[in-house]
Parts: sequence; structure tokens; C-alpha cells
Amino acid sequence: AKPRLVVVGGGPGGATVARYVAKDSGGAVDVTLVEPAPKFVTCFHSNLYLGGFRSFESLEHGYDKLAGQGVKMVRQAAKSIDRDKKEVVLEDGSRLPFDRLVLAPGIDLKYDSVPGWSKAAEEVMPHAWKAGPQTKLLKAKLDAVPDGGLIVMIAPPNPFRCPPGPYERVSMMAHVLKTSGRGKAKIIIVDPKDKFSKMGLFQEGWERHYPGMVEWIGPSINDGVKSVDPKTGTVVTGFETYKNAALVNVIPAQMAGAIARDAGLANASGFCPIDPESMASQMDPNVFIVGDAAIPGDMPKSAFAANSQAKVAAMAARAALTGAKAFPARYANTCWSLIDTDDAVKVGGRYAPADGKIKEVEGFISKTGESAELRRQTEQENLGWYAGITADIWG
Ligand code: FAD
Repeated sequence: AKPRLVVVGGGPGGATVARYVAKDSGGAVDVTLVEPAPKFVTCFHSNLYLGGFRSFESLEHGYDKLAGQGVKMVRQAAKSIDRDKKEVVLEDGSRLPFDRLVLAPGIDLKYDSVPGWSKAAEEVMPHAWKAGPQTKLLKAKLDAVPDGGLIVMIAPPNPFRCPPGPYERVSMMAHVLKTSGRGKAKIIIVDPKDKFSKMGLFQEGWERHYPGMVEWIGPSINDGVKSVDPKTGTVVTGFETYKNAALVNVIPAQMAGAIARDAGLANASGFCPIDPESMASQMDPNVFIVGDAAIPGDMPKSAFAANSQAKVAAMAARAALTGAKAFPARYANTCWSLIDTDDAVKVGGRYAPADGKIKEVEGFISKTGESAELRRQTEQENLGWYAGITADIWG
């Protein structure tokens, strides 16, 4: 019988591993992808949807092509992992045996990390940090903010998926307000971090494109979020109370998806430690963890990073299952952010295993004061990246 690889989670991490092992082993490995959602909606570029730069449909990706490329699809959730028997237990109770397992479940939200907020409250104060109905809800609420209205974003603590994401989102909100005659609306970011990704670039962009509309408040001047009240649109911080907000976007603290934590593969941080040479779990060499659920060393939690880690895991899994040659692990990432029409910035790097983690070898970042032409080219790169990576992930 063929060796069996089971992959749980059909996002950028999991779908890439499944596709690459099926493709590169030429059918020598039996590859099964477990994913309940009929379509994947990308968080990446969901801020561009919010800003009116993309349609919602353009964020949706089906699994038909993967199925045509030798990946067996199981359309239900994995309920638990029996690591002793090397079996995935599915929602309906049936079991899938594996020789190697990949877990790529993404993140879970810590609903108790913001006092007064909850799973029920996400219908009023959306997070939109998992794409789908939440993304549409955030857009509907943004469209209903009156001129002069108040938006409060509660930014998440580290580590979280997409470090520049909250600040790109604020830029897109300001863009929509400004271009729809609501330039007197105000966006306040209450942040538990004293600095954030591409901070100087975002602050320069907000000043230039949206003067007076965006105010970032770091921990030394907010002293933490004490509570929120979804009924009245209130956000209480240590120093200031914001009332009657037209929109509160709560982006809570995060942890690895439950399936990985419940399998005993996370540490006290809530995320899963990996071997940087292979993306194998430090707790179980038969299980690989890729994407947002893993502890990625110097890499951010991004779709680009998940796809890059997935290629390392695919190579290591194929080597373990078929004896194929594995080359030294190399990783790459770039995160683009759109600030206003044709004004995009980027940060990224190359990485390799060193000192027991995935370590940055070389990094780069856009500069303040760049020409409009360079910023326009950067946005073209961003659009090209999306088209390329989604084809690389889902076929
Ligand atoms: P996910 O994308 O979360 O996929 C996990 C999959 O696993 C899901 O399909 C889920 O249904 C499935 N799953 C979970 N549990 C189970 C189970 N028990 N059984 C079966 N299936 C299961 N990244 C970029 O690179 N560039 C960007 O511009 C960018 N912008 C972003 C903007 C925003 C607003 C946000 C929130 C994120 C952004 N990201 C960006 C980050 C990117 O979306 C994530 O890093 C990426 O999706 C992580 O991929 P993943 O495969 O690890 O997890």
C-alpha cells in the first residue's frame, strides 16, 4: 500500500502541502485533505475588499482543482487526533489512518481576552479576523458609519496573524470614509503594543492621505482596554471612555486552532513549537505544523509564510514517506499593505534555520518619502502576488 499523508486544514498552509506532495511524488503518496468549508475565503486582500478595491467573490477559492490534481478531499472537520494509533478522528466518528500528518488549522480567537466581548458580541462588534460572514459584516457596518461618527479598533497583542493587517485595515476604512464624503469621521486605534509593523510608513501615510482622521493610542496612553459594552458602543480604557461608537472592531488575542492544541502540540504560548529544519512538531516527529498555528521564529504569521513553510514540510514529508531527497530548509516572506489608491508599502525577508528557530537572514522594508511611482509599482506587485500565490495554493 502507498504511504499515507493526511492534511488537516485547507488554507494556505495545508492546501499547499497537499498539492505539493501529490504533485511532486507523482502519485506515490496517498494524500488526503480534511477541510469542512466548501470554499476558502482569503483574509489576505480582505482589507482591499473593505476598501472597495476588490469584490468579495474574488477572495473565494474552491477545492475542485486540488481534487483534480491527486488530492483526496474529505469534506468534514477533524474532531481529534489519536497520535498513538496515528489516526485522525473525523466529525462523523470515522477514522483516517496516516503515516505522516500535517496540521494547518490556523488560529482560534481568545474570546475572553477583551472584557465584555464574546462570541455573541462578535455580531455587534465584529473581528473580521477570520474571513467570511464577518468580513461582510464589518463592511456593512463601515458603510453605515455617519459623517462625524466614531470607529474604535481594538488592536491585538503579539503574536497574531498578519502584523500589518490592523493598520492596513484602518487605512482602508479611512479611504472609504474620505471618498464617500464622510471625512469628519474619526478612527481611534487602541493598541496594547508600543510599536507595530511598518509603523513609520503607516503614520506617514495617514498624515498625508487622511489628516486628522486616524489616531493611534499606544499602551502608555490607554493603559489597556478595561471593558467594552456592545449594547451602547462603549470602550473603556484605563484613561479614556469612548461612547456611542458607530463601529467597534475588536481584534482579540489569538492561539493555535483547537485541533492542534487538543492534540497536545502547543506550548504555554498557545502556539506549536516546530523543528525549523522540517516544520515537524517538537512534540511529535510524525506530525508537521505549518502556518499560523506554528511558532515561526522570526517569520510573521502570514499567508506568504504559511505557503513557504508548507513547501518545507512537503519536502520533509515526501523524504520521510518515499525516501526522496530533502534539501536544506529555506523560507521567504513579503507582506504588502495598501494605504490609499496606488500607495502600497511592503516588508519582508529571507529566513533559514539557525539557533533552533527560523531566523531572518536578510530583511527589507519600504521607505518613507518614496516616489508615487514606486508605491504604485509596489501595489502592482501586491496584486500579482495574490494571483500567483492563490494558484500555487489551490491549483
Ligand atoms: P488559515 O488560513 O486559517 O486556514 C486554516 C484552515 O483550516 C481553514 O480553512 C479551516 O476551516 C481549517 N480547519 C481548522 N480546524 C480544522 C479542523 N479541525 N478540521 C478541518 N479543517 C480545519 N497574509 C499575507 O501573506 N498577506 C496579506 O496581505 C495578508 N492580509 C491579511 C489581512 C487580514 C485582515 C488578516 C486577518 C490576515 C491577513 N493575512 C495576510 C494572514 C493570512 O490570512 C494568514 O496568515 C493565513 O491565512 C494563514 O494560513 P493557515 O493555512 O495557517 O490558516
